[in-house]
Formats: sequence, C-alpha cells, structure tokens
Amino acid sequence: MSQKVVILGSGESGVGAALLSKASGYTTFVSDSNVIPGAFVKELEDASIAYEQGKHSEDIILSADIIVKSPGIPEKAPIMKTIRAKGIEVISEIEFAYRHIHEEAEFIAITGSNGKTTTTLLTYHILSKLGYSVGLGGNIGKSLARQIIQEQKDIYVLELSSFQLDDMYTFKANVAVLLNITPDHLDRYEYNFENYVDSKFRIFQNLTPADYYITYAEDEVVANKLKHTSITAKHLPVSLKQLYTTGAYSDETTIQIKDLTNNTVTAAVADFPLNGKHNYINIMAALNAVIAIGADVAESIEAVKSFRNAPHRLEFVGSIYGVKYVNDSKATNVDSVWYALDSMKTPVVLIVGGVDKGNDYTQIESLVKEKVHTVVALGKDNSKVLAGFSSMVKEIKEAGSMLEAIRIAHDSAKQGDTVLLSPACASFDLFKNYEDRGNQFRNLVIELAG
Ligand code: ADP
Repeated sequence: MSQKVVILGSGESGVGAALLSKASGYTTFVSDSNVIPGAFVKELEDASIAYEQGKHSEDIILSADIIVKSPGIPEKAPIMKTIRAKGIEVISEIEFAYRHIHEEAEFIAITGSNGKTTTTLLTYHILSKLGYSVGLGGNIGKSLARQIIQEQKDIYVLELSSFQLDDMYTFKANVAVLLNITPDHLDRYEYNFENYVDSKFRIFQNLTPADYYITYAEDEVVANKLKHTSITAKHLPVSLKQLYTTGAYSDETTIQIKDLTNNTVTAAVADFPLNGKHNYINIMAALNAVIAIGADVAESIEAVKSFRNAPHRLEFVGSIYGVKYVNDSKATNVDSVWYALDSMKTPVVLIVGGVDKGNDYTQIESLVKEKVHTVVALGKDNSKVLAGFSSMVKEIKEAGSMLEAIRIAHDSAKQGDTVLLSPACASFDLFKNYEDRGNQFRNLVIELAG
C-alpha cells in the first residue's frame, strides 16, 4: 500500500509539498482550517489531489504515515496536539523535499533573526553568475518541493526560518550559516528565548568534518551558545573586529577574506552595491559560503558588484527638495533599525511603529539621540512608540496612514536629511504586510516627487 501523506496548510509550501507527494506516488491529502486561495485550489484539482478547507478532519489526518506541516501552524494548535499525542512523524516541506533530492546535491542553508533574505539572494546571485547549477528555496519564492518535481540542481541555497528548522531532522547542510539571534517570534517559543536559540542552532544539525559553518563572530548569543555546542565542521567566522585564521573581516572600508588555502584576498566595500555594517556581514557570509562550496574568490567578489537586493531593505526610493527617502519596511524588529540608523550619514526623520513585538527601544537610544530629530509614530496604537522615544528626540508626531506619515515627515525634514521608514514592528494594523507598507511609502514618495 502506498504511503499516506497529509499536508497541513495550503500556502505555497503546502501546495508544493502536495504536488511532490502526488508525483512521488503517495496517497496525498491536503487539510487547511482556513479558505484555500483559488489559484491553489485549481492546482490541487488539476493534479487530482484530495483536499479540505475550513476544517481538519481528524479521521483522515490521524491515518497519515507522515505529516508535512506548514511553518505557519503553531504547535499549540489543537490539531497539532492531537497529532503529537498519536506520535505521527511531522516534518517541514523543506525536509520533505530534501528527502526527494538526489544524493550528490549540495546545500547552503542560511538562517538568523535578520539578514536571511539578503544573504540568501546574494549567495544565489554569486553562484548563478559563476555558472553553477543552483536553486533557491526555503522562505523565498517558489517552494523547494515544487521546484524539484521537474528538474533538480547541483546546489541549493536555502533561506530557513526557525519554524522550518523545527521540523527538520535528516536534513544536512554542506555549508550552514547563522547570521545572528535576537528575540523574535517568542510567542511561538513559549516566551522562552532559549527555545528560539535552540531552534536556530538546528541549522548545524548533522554537519560532518567535511562541512563548513559560518557565524557572525560578534553576535554574543551565538558565540555563547557555540561554547556549549559541539560542531565538527570547519568554522568560517565573519567579523567586524579582526581577521581570524579562517573566515572574513571588514574594517568597513575593505573586506579581507581567506580562501580555502588560507591566502587573504582584499576587496573595497565601495565597489559593492550594499552599505552598512549589517550588509558587510551579509556579504562576508555569502562570500564565505560560496568559497566553501569551491567557488573562485576573485570571481565571486566580482559577482557581488552586480547584485541588486530585494526591495524594502534600505531601499532608496527618491528625493524631494533635497530630502532622501529610504524604505526599510522589512525592518520589523529593533535590531534591524539599529543597523539602518547606524548606516545613515545625515540627520534622520524616522517613521516607526505598527504592531509591537515586545520592543525595547533603549537598545537604539544612543543612535536615535545622535541621528534622529523627529519620530513619526505610524500605527493604530502608538502608545509604546510614544513612551519609548519621547525622551530621546525633540519631536514625536502621530500618523494614522502612510500619506499622513509622509506629509508630517516632509514638513519636519530639512534639506540634506533622510526620511527613513524603518518601523521595528509588524505591519498588520494598517497594512496587508510589510510589502504593502513599503510599496505605499515608495509610491507616495514617487508621486509627491513627480
Ligand atoms: P530577513 O530575511 O532575515 O528578515 P532581510 O535580508 O530581509 O532579513 O533584512 C531585513 C532587515 O533586517 C533589513 O531591512 C535590515 O534593516 C536588517 N538586516 C539585514 N541584514 C542584517 C544583519 N546581518 N544583521 C542585522 N540586521 C540586518
């Protein structure tokens, strides 16, 4: 009898897993407690995959041999408790896809609280540019499961969230990158930071001495945890303080990077399209990752120069009367705002706010005092922002829409200033998502500038 696979959740990863399951000959069933978007319903029906929406039928779900769970479903959901009680194996879509990829494939797996997308896209860009057969997956674009049905690549670059890592067991990276760990998503980890740290450290599971792992050396949470973790793979630390015997270092003017024979190669950061300390960390991590896979160092450095980052990450969108407007809508926690402010070279009007995640704004106090003269609080409930910033800046104003926020920022900014949208919060109070928030900002600025 064929294996029974039940897929819980039917977003891009759930539908991808369902298509792969069906193509692999398993009895496949998709269950979603919400409404499944029309385009996905059509795909499931076209592939003759059984599904249900608006409910979870326990009799079908509990008869599964294996359950592929979408990352959005929390352990505390009633259906998960029932599944766990029954002891059925639960894996993520990435783990499911991994089990169906040819054995010679190599994996660069990237995680961290911040910088995952930038580093993943950059790593992918370098390898593509150098002509490798490379795929991109995880939290980005098309699901990995969907991609491998038709065609498989030699190398996969994967952006992995902690939720995906939670349900990965046999997965083994050849190069594992952990950029940083700052408190995030704690609601999913019983408000216990240690649980979240453990989840991120799963990126290193199953590594062997032939593999590599890359960390940002000055991240204290990662560095402390590494002291109590045994990893046999080779370490390539990236640092803003010093060049270690392996890895890379940036003094913020150059990047110095060791190749695999320990020669040091130097490149000027002015030639790179990404700025700010955080991006030097991301660039060094990406370069180390591709070097570990065997890419040529000089060619890889050259390839970085033609990289264009995804929007909403310190994206310059235009100037109005000599004031620059920068969209950093993807900065949804305080740590990202720290790096955004750190990279600013002019006085700043900061647009901040949204759905609070338990933010502690004292972390950015010295940078705010040094660089920000006006804060525009953009959210339904601005109380946390008002309380957090009132003693740090000359002026705080409230806005209830992006248009209002830009108008206030425009009135407060002087020639030579930067208006920075770097919200430190989730966007769901006033916007569909961070993309909607960033797009509204960009479109309104372009309209006003025109
Ligand atoms: P993620 O995919 O982890 O959310 P992104 O690459 O999309 O990361 O960047 C999100 C935001 O995080 C950016 O707007 C930037 O302000 C900040 N950021 C990027 N890289 C780093 C890093 N290495 N350390 C800290 N913050 C970063």
